[in-house]
Parts: sequence; C-alpha cells; structure tokens
Amino acid sequence: MRRKAVVTVSRRRSPSAPSVAKKIVVTGRVLVRVRKRVRRPAPLGPYATEVMTRLKRAHPDAHCELDYKTPLQLLVATILSAQCTDKRVNMVTPVFFRTFPTAAAMADAPVDQVEDVIRSTGFFRNKAKSLIGLGKALVERHNGEVPDSMDELVKLPGVGRKTANVVLGNAFDRNEGVVVDTHVGRLSTRLGLTRETDPVKIERDLMPLFPRDEWTNVAHVLIFHGRRVCHARVPRCDVCVVADICPSSRV
Ligand code: SF4
Repeated sequence: MRRKAVVTVSRRRSPSAPSVAKKIVVTGRVLVRVRKRVRRPAPLGPYATEVMTRLKRAHPDAHCELDYKTPLQLLVATILSAQCTDKRVNMVTPVFFRTFPTAAAMADAPVDQVEDVIRSTGFFRNKAKSLIGLGKALVERHNGEVPDSMDELVKLPGVGRKTANVVLGNAFDRNEGVVVDTHVGRLSTRLGLTRETDPVKIERDLMPLFPRDEWTNVAHVLIFHGRRVCHARVPRCDVCVVADICPSSRV
C-alpha cells in the first residue's frame, strides 16, 4: 500500500544555529536523510551600521567635491573625473562651462577645441568624444536636458552606472544606487562588506546594508575615509575610527 509522503525538518533555535536535520519519507522509503553542521556568517547589517555611524562622525563634512550648478554641469564634471582628481576637474570645468554652456553648444563643438580645454584631465581624446556625443544625444533625445532616470542616463555616451548614480544622487536628490568608485570599492573590500571586485556586484552587496535614503551619503563618507585615512597603498589604521572592528586592520 502506498503511504502518504512525510516531510520532517528540524526547527533551528536561531537563524545562526548550526545544526540542520532533515528526513523525507515517501511511499515508505527514506529518500533523503541529511544531518550536517552548517556554519553561517554573522549578519552584516549591524556591523555595517556601526561602521557607517563611526565613519559619518569622523567625516561629517562628506559631500560631492565636484563643483557644479546644474545637472548638466555635474554630468560633465563626473565624466571628466575618470582617472583624474576632483581638484583638477574643478580647475578645468569653469572654462568648459563658459565655452560650452549648453548641450547644444557641446553638440556643435569642434573636437580639437574641446580637447584643448580638457587636456589636463587625462584621456582627453576619449573624453572629448564622449562629451560631444553626450551633447548630441541630449539634444536629440531629451530636448537638451539631462534625464532624471537611471535607464535613460546609462544610455548616454560616456555614462555608466557610477556616473548616473553621482548625477541622480547629487543633482536630483534620488537614491537609485551606491556610487562605487575606486575608494568605495577598496574600502568595501577591506571592511569586509563585500567579496566582489566588480563595481556593479559591489553596489548590489552594499545597497541592502544601508537605508535607501543614505545611499548617496554612504558613498561620500567612504570616499572621504579613503582619501583621508584608508589610503590605497598604506592605510592609516593607527588613526582609523573602525580599526578595532575592521577585518583588515593592521593594528
Ligand atoms: S582599519 Fe585600516 S584597513 Fe580598516 S578601514 Fe581603517 S584604515 Fe582601512
């Protein structure tokens, strides 16, 4: 006679309790019997909150250091900031904004003139091409205005998810994601907030750890900490406010 299926799964005492027992009996025959010890990592949420609380206290002035007045200016400045310091970009952008004040002006700009203006930011040939293409795309698709959605922004020449997040978070006050630049990537790894190396995957790991309305500021705080304390080559763990909980601390 065929008997009813029986499924028994032991209840764990807490989410982190290691023991799991499972027994499945179907038609009188034991099909699966599993008894193993599973070590689960501690949830990152409380740790991430503690890290961010301390870092925010250490860098209350964390903010976007690129100078801009409009979404278009921030978009241009962010494109120019690739492989370049914000300080250098801020020296170049006043001339750029004066010479090419609108998307239409950028679209019609002679490439050698754009290259001359932005030369000192590095990779100036690619950046000039992106900026002229950006001007054209904005004129053709968005009436010369910068769109305020991730979907539309990442379709523009020279604009990836990082640049789109910078513009959305700072110019439009919209938290669509976390900016993952070189500092945010390095600190997230050192702090044990991710094991990923790809910026998009790092961002995916960071987002659930912090309230959405803090995503833009989380990046600012990590960037400030990276510039001031957790340097790429020699991190200053001796003066770091999270040295006692950071898994990469050297003290
Ligand atoms: S303890 Fe050291 S490695 Fe960890 S965040 Fe601070 S400076 Fe960086």
